Amino acid sequence: MSPETSYSCMDDFDPESITPDQATEHIQSAIRPVTDTDTVATMEALDRVLAVEARSEIDVPGHTNSAMDGYAVRGQDLASDSPGTFTLIGTSFAGHPYDGPVGAGECVRIMTGGVMPDSADTVVIQERVRILGDTEIEIPAGEKPGQNVRAAGEDIAAGSVILESGRLIGPADLGLLASVGIAEFSVLRRIRVAFFSTGDELREVGEPLQEGHIYNSNRYTLSAMLRRLHADALDLGVVRDDRIAVAEAFREASERADMVITSGGVSVGEADYVKDVLGELGDVNFWKVAIKPGRPLAFGQIGSAKFFGLPGNPVSVMVTFYQFVRPALLRMAGMAEQPPLALQVPATSPLRKRPGRVEYQRGILSQAQDGSYAVACTGAQGSGILTSMSQANCFIVLPMERARVQEGETVEVIPFSGIT
Ligand code: AMP
Ligand code: MG
Repeated sequence: MSPETSYSCMDDFDPESITPDQATEHIQSAIRPVTDTDTVATMEALDRVLAVEARSEIDVPGHTNSAMDGYAVRGQDLASDSPGTFTLIGTSFAGHPYDGPVGAGECVRIMTGGVMPDSADTVVIQERVRILGDTEIEIPAGEKPGQNVRAAGEDIAAGSVILESGRLIGPADLGLLASVGIAEFSVLRRIRVAFFSTGDELREVGEPLQEGHIYNSNRYTLSAMLRRLHADALDLGVVRDDRIAVAEAFREASERADMVITSGGVSVGEADYVKDVLGELGDVNFWKVAIKPGRPLAFGQIGSAKFFGLPGNPVSVMVTFYQFVRPALLRMAGMAEQPPLALQVPATSPLRKRPGRVEYQRGILSQAQDGSYAVACTGAQGSGILTSMSQANCFIVLPMERARVQEGETVEVIPFSGIT
């Protein structure tokens, strides 16, 4: 079914546009994960991507040990119907094990983490024990053989895989790698992303603004979004609306990076010379995507680099980045892809929407006293209203066919915490 036949009745749908899913599919199928690797020390590996699965060569815990402070005994010596008297023969403290077996009617004072002595298999917690003398204790009836003991290898067995390749390494992973004694390992190299903005109206922070000028805010949002995704961001600043300058910027960016991202210059009327330049340098598609904000989008290849031409409006840049660039970057970086967490929650007020485009409205997700969630719109939703992104903590994603949302109706929400 072509877009024309499926959505021709919708008032906001442009028959020449493609759906966001079609754009995503095209983009993702064009992206190849990197294969080059670096070796990094475990302490330096936060936010890197594991190139090969990590295996443990040791058991964790390395020895069967006590889960409690108490007395280690042989389970077979415990009586179910009467208390028993045990002779204290030594101690096993963390880092200082008891050397030798435990015989019939004997016990070893043991602390949490202490290695279980040979032939002992049970720990009776200290609160249950009566001290009879310096070397004698009484254990009541009913203690269970095998209790309060952590088996060697119960967390990690020697030889097992602890982390899969493609894993983005987080704090717990660093601890896990260290816990099995791994000091360094192989990670995929970082993705280098060059970015610049086009537009004669753009001025840098610190410069005075004259009539018709605006500050270059996309430089900051793009740089920050890239760094949050652990890319190596190469900031090429602003390029004048000039054919030669733009061609030179594209050439330099594509030679220095795996991915090139621009903002501005892809909307109708602006795109003409950008189109010509890109036509000479590479193979780029200019799409109208049925998404709001962010309708114009260019994607393709320049030299060996992938290219994203994002719209210029500040909110459109961020929406199209999260929707299209983020999954592409994760894929290129070799990360196992996971769709962002989406929640279904009621809207606290009506939301304006016309069928024909997928809308990414900015929302504030909140939790009531009773634990239930609800989402409110941030207010004006224009593609230039960057305060809406700053105030929001989620996108409200309204599907193509959906019209106006009434108060209390359920909408899909993607929390920023899962994607930013
Ligand atoms: P364009 O696609 O180049 O026509 O840009 C669309 C809108 O986004 C215009 O209002 C531009 O001024 C604005 N814009 C373009 N680039 C930037 C930028 N780097 N920072 C802030 N706004 C921008
Ligand atoms: Mg422009």
